[in-house]
Amino acid sequence: MKISESTVEMLSKQVNAEFYASYLYFSMSIWADRENLPGLAKWMELQAKEELEHAERLHKYITERGGSTILAPIDLPPGEFASALEVMEAAYEHELMVTDNFTRMTATALEEQDFATVSALRWFIDEQVEEEAQTSHWVDRLRLAGERKGALLMIDNQLAQRQEA
Ligand code: MG
Repeated sequence: MKISESTVEMLSKQVNAEFYASYLYFSMSIWADRENLPGLAKWMELQAKEELEHAERLHKYITERGGSTILAPIDLPPGEFASALEVMEAAYEHELMVTDNFTRMTATALEEQDFATVSALRWFIDEQVEEEAQTSHWVDRLRLAGERKGALLMIDNQLAQRQEA
């Protein structure tokens, strides 16, 4: 069964949101580089790459179902942040919003009895559990560090340990 136009529109909006997320994390990486936090910069760069893969995955699904992804302009993300903690808090907030998107999309797909889309969205629902857990973990660590520069540098070293998925 060919995918409905409304589902293509809904998933295309999420393709745009994934590109925006990538742009946001790329912006955070640029900021971290400027602030001499190479670990955070690397972590955010890998995160930005992952978001591009999410966009690609959604696009591939739309195509497989005989649809055609609709593109839209990508908003400009913020470029200035007060601290590494603020960066990670913004990342966590963003992931919560993304989870909300996928929850609403899954509910819509269920309503329309489009179970193939429900199944495709399940991967993202699972992925969001990890995204929330990770960003929330780093928010906790950075809160713990507070104003102590030594602790911040230690966390930056830990962030640098992240490997490409
Ligand atoms: Mg994503």
